[in-house]
Amino acid sequence: MTMTPSLLGLSKPEVKDQLAKHGVAEKQLNMRCSQIWHWLYARGISEFDEMSNVSLAIREMLTENFSIKRPEIVTEQISVDGTRKWLLALEPQSPREKAPEVECVYIPESDRGTLCISSQVGCTLNCSFCHTGTQRLVRNLTAGELVGQIMLARDRVGDWPGAEAQNTTGLPDSDRKITNIVLMGMGEPLYNFENVRDAMKLALEDDGLAFSRRRITLSTSGLVPEIKRCGDEIGVMLAISLHAVRDELRDELVPINKKYPLKQLLAACRDYPGLSNARRITFEYVMLKGVNDSLSDARELVRLLAGIPAKINLIPFNPWPGSPYECSDWGQIEAFADIVNRAGYASPVRTPRGRDIMAACGQLKSLSQKLRAKDALLDEAVKAAAEDAAAAETSVVEP
Ligand code: SAH
Ligand code: SF4
Repeated sequence: MTMTPSLLGLSKPEVKDQLAKHGVAEKQLNMRCSQIWHWLYARGISEFDEMSNVSLAIREMLTENFSIKRPEIVTEQISVDGTRKWLLALEPQSPREKAPEVECVYIPESDRGTLCISSQVGCTLNCSFCHTGTQRLVRNLTAGELVGQIMLARDRVGDWPGAEAQNTTGLPDSDRKITNIVLMGMGEPLYNFENVRDAMKLALEDDGLAFSRRRITLSTSGLVPEIKRCGDEIGVMLAISLHAVRDELRDELVPINKKYPLKQLLAACRDYPGLSNARRITFEYVMLKGVNDSLSDARELVRLLAGIPAKINLIPFNPWPGSPYECSDWGQIEAFADIVNRAGYASPVRTPRGRDIMAACGQLKSLSQKLRAKDALLDEAVKAAAEDAAAAETSVVEP
């Protein structure tokens, strides 16, 4: 089995290189590359034949040698509130490899739409509360698969010029249906640095996917050296999976803390370029009953973050079979949030969501396996969890 190389995920110089290799004349390279670019990323075509201003010979050459296929949809679930969840099969990288699967979730709100994408199949880290952490790393996603998730989601919600969604449930009123991207699906994005960087560059290109830098958020468990690189080389918004305010506990919950303890992590956050009140770091804090949810933890959290332009995102723990934790009680979450609010981190009152809070982005795939087994629809909780991951302020979801 030979695999057709994907054109998706290549930079402009790489596209030109490929064109030259396949006989496109030197003096045509710039023009052909911009045409192809426009069709791929501004128009979202999925067949080379639709590139009407590209010569037939070049279209034939492209069709023969390259693919612009998105990841394949294994299942698509659309909630009554418009949340969409796709289980996607990636192309096997060798004939022996079974098609690896990842998930991607779209959460529409009235004024925006947030897409949560995966960066790895599995994860090398073992955060004790995260289901992905129990799955071994299968492989990194390629830059093409990373942008492929965005393009596939745009296909499905009709988010290309002139396109229409087959199902319009819950779509935002905004012109663009997908306005925000969060790297909060499976995997640790900063352990797949180059591909994530290249894909995010493509997502940011003005003449391409054209997302705003302020509307892309990368979530990391805290890889200190790569946080700096992320600031220097990608420049998107940062979310930190903090989850504990003392090293002893964080060593247990987020074991990468043993390598990069809180002091180093917070120093890297302080140094993150371009921070201001309008560009804050999001600190994610999963609420684990009796583990990290005491009021003294809340006060310590506020103290630790002093001086860093920050948002705090309290995430109700999302249990999975065999998980060693429980979600904090609602009253405790509220009391915790109160302390955080009083320190000046806004906490909009959210409409209560479903009781079952099954789907933090970090464990999308386990949820999907369950859903597949039960053949159930997404519930409100999926939206709550994913929205939380994307939310701009402190947010708590009523259990
Ligand atoms: N690996 C990256 C991004 C993916 S996880 C990271 O760790 O930041 C996205 C978010 O979901 C992280 O904040 C993660 O800690 C959180 N998460 C993982 N499992 C969870 C669970 N069971 N309940 C609630 N949040 C969870
Ligand atoms: Fe990996 Fe993030 Fe889960 Fe930790 S929380 S195991 S880094 S996906």
